[in-house]
Amino acid sequence: MRYEGSVYRPPSEAYSLIIQVTIGCAHNKCTFCSMFKDKKFRIRKVSEVIEDLNSARKYYGRVNKIFLADGDALVLNNKDLLVILDHIKKTFPECERVGIYGSPQDVLRKTHEELVELRDNGIGIIYIGAESGSDKVLKDIVKGATRAEIIKAVQMIEASGIKASVTFISGLAGTDGWEDHAIQTGTMISEMQPSYVGLLTLMIEPGAELYDDIKAGKFKILSAVDVVKETALLLENINVTKKCVFRSNHASNYVSLRGDLPKDKERMLAQLKNALANHNLKDERFRML
Ligand code: SF4
Repeated sequence: MRYEGSVYRPPSEAYSLIIQVTIGCAHNKCTFCSMFKDKKFRIRKVSEVIEDLNSARKYYGRVNKIFLADGDALVLNNKDLLVILDHIKKTFPECERVGIYGSPQDVLRKTHEELVELRDNGIGIIYIGAESGSDKVLKDIVKGATRAEIIKAVQMIEASGIKASVTFISGLAGTDGWEDHAIQTGTMISEMQPSYVGLLTLMIEPGAELYDDIKAGKFKILSAVDVVKETALLLENINVTKKCVFRSNHASNYVSLRGDLPKDKERMLAQLKNALANHNLKDERFRML
C-alpha cells in the first residue's frame, strides 16, 4: 500500500482503512487551507487503487470502514468509482461503509441517479466542507461555491440516501462580520438539513494565504471569548426538523460540544453560557488541528 504525502481524514474515520484515490485537492484554492498546497492534483489510475486494496487485504483483518482520500475523491466519474466500489465489495465483504470527501461542485456535477448508484454500491457518507453560510465569507476564502450551491449539493446528497457530513469553521470571518457568519451559517444548516455538522475553530498554518494576511494585519482573528459567542449565535439560528448530529468537539475548539439537534440545542447553549461565565475555555496551548 502506498501513501503519497500527508494524508488527511475526518475525525470519524480514525479507524478506517484509508485509500488514496486522488492525490491532493482539485480546487486547492481555499485561503485558510494548507493541507494539499505541496501536492499537484492528479487522479490515480484505477489499477493502482485496486493494487492498494489488494495489498491492504493482506495486512488487515476485519475492516469495517474504508475512506477514499484525498481532498475531493468524489471528483472521479461514476464509471471509475464503481470499479473501485465493486472491488471493495469483493475484497472487503465485511466493510459496512465507504466514506469520501467531495466538493460542492463534485456533487452538483452528478445526477440524482448517479448519487443513488454510489449509495447502492457502498458509499454511505460524503464529507463536504461548507465552511460558512455567508456568501461574503465564501467569496473571501475562495471556496469556489456559493451558499445556494452548497445548500443544493447537501440536499442532493441527503435525497440520494447518502449521509452528508458538513464542516464549518468558527472565526472564519475574523472580527469583521462574525455575526453575519454565525447567522448565515445557522440558517444555512436549517435549510439544508444535513445528517451531521462538524464545527471546527480557525487555526492557520504557514502555507495558507490567510496566514500571510494575519501576519500583515489584514485579517484579525477572533478572541476565544468571541469564538464562543459566535458559536452560540450560530446554534441559536439552527432550526432543523430532522435529526442532525452536531459536533464541535475537535481539538481546535475552545468548548467541546456534542448533541443531537434539535433535541440538545438548549443544553449546548447553556454549556456555552456556563463556559463563558466560568472562563472555562480550552487553553490556547492545547488547541490543535
Ligand atoms: S478546504 Fe477542502 S476544497 Fe478547500 S483547498 Fe482545502 S481540501 Fe481543497
